[in-house]
Amino acid sequence: MVLAELGGSISRALQQMSNATIIDEKVLNECLNEITRALLQSDVQFKLVREMQTNIKKIVNLDDLAAGHNKRKIIQQAIFTELCKMLDPGKPSFTPKKSKPSVVMFVGLQGSGKTTTCTKYAYYHQKKGWKPALVCADTFRAGAFDQLKQNATKAKIPFYGSYMESDPVKIAVEGVERFKKENCDLIIVDTSGRHKQEVALFEEMRQVSEATKPDLVIFVMDSSIGQAAFDQAQAFKQSVAVGAVIITKMDGHAKGGGALSAVAATKSPVIFIGTGEHMDEFEVFDVKPFVSRLLGMGDLSGFMDKIHEVVPMDQQPELLQKLSEGTFTVRIMYEQFQNILKMGPINQVFSMLPGFSSELMPKGGEKESQAKIKRYMTMMDSMTNEELDSTNPKLMNESRMMRIARGAGRQYRDVVEMFEEYKRLAKIWSKMKGLKIPKKGDMSAL
Ligand code: GDP
Repeated sequence: MVLAELGGSISRALQQMSNATIIDEKVLNECLNEITRALLQSDVQFKLVREMQTNIKKIVNLDDLAAGHNKRKIIQQAIFTELCKMLDPGKPSFTPKKSKPSVVMFVGLQGSGKTTTCTKYAYYHQKKGWKPALVCADTFRAGAFDQLKQNATKAKIPFYGSYMESDPVKIAVEGVERFKKENCDLIIVDTSGRHKQEVALFEEMRQVSEATKPDLVIFVMDSSIGQAAFDQAQAFKQSVAVGAVIITKMDGHAKGGGALSAVAATKSPVIFIGTGEHMDEFEVFDVKPFVSRLLGMGDLSGFMDKIHEVVPMDQQPELLQKLSEGTFTVRIMYEQFQNILKMGPINQVFSMLPGFSSELMPKGGEKESQAKIKRYMTMMDSMTNEELDSTNPKLMNESRMMRIARGAGRQYRDVVEMFEEYKRLAKIWSKMKGLKIPKKGDMSAL
């Protein structure tokens, strides 16, 4: 089960519970069983799921809750808290500081996406004003250096490696020394990952770590490895001091639940996730917004960050005002589509909005989604000001829709489809009515 489906199953379980007239032990148990099943199907380790179930039951003591309490809300909050707890080891990872050069070593199995992730990590920091550098200490896999070189060149990041030298420790030390001299402030060491000969792999990793004394060791894990995640992560943690985790391929059809298990095994936080093969398909990972999104509660702080990033400053207060009023006109939809087209990876933005399903943004259909949005916008261009600003659903009768279709050179049914989408979005938008918009990083409004 992919993570989006996991989120769907959990929110459905919560929904079913809220449809029940009385929330008693039986209803709560059914809801928890449903959630347990979904988590297990997503490859979250059995032990963790059991713990979570027990904890929720401890928090939600139905007998003690007076009639006036909003039980659904309390249960939802308990599930939210427990999922966050699973993903949050309780201590932050080391974060590099620009004032002193940091060495960050990447470890993980071959094919996990380690080399790609090293470049993504470097590129991410480079965009933020760092001077990163890449060292290829993978002498085991033929082509590893070429791959790193290619990626680094594309991102204009200095790199170091050798075709001749077979000792990874020597290359790692030389690379780190050289980039320290060149005043690079983030030196990233890629190590080799193998499928077999694990003992040798772990020994080599230990030696590279001892020689380069990294400030942070990042364990890279493919989200699709499923139930094996816990053991694999633990094996790495036992050999080197893993301090953070990056989960790759979260865009695929992977069972992402293994990520939760990796955190438990390494007691280290997930700091980024990989969401595609491209350099910028890389997202900072924050537990609360992630779990919010998983539960279909949206990620308001992520959404707000995006708003701050792309909506022109002078339009921001107005947009936030409209959001909290809950009124949604076609003109607002038009403006939002304009922003979305500017915002880049559309799916990322949409999944941050509470309730925005993948209907408009089918997975892997980014191009089609953009085309659809542009088609809708052409039709909106044929609407009058009165129509664009109306909040009266009865205004849009058949003759008006026919006129819009003619004006935009589209079929009548295309206009109907556009209005269906409008109604769907308006419904979601209305849910945000009265919502306190959180300031950056403040999730207390959720
Ligand atoms: P390594 O052997 O661990 O260094 O793995 P690579 O960096 O060579 O990656 C293995 C494959 O996974 C390559 O085809 C990458 O393009 C791909 N890959 C890495 N990260 C991601 C990701 O987040 N999403 C997707 N879809 N593919 C990824």
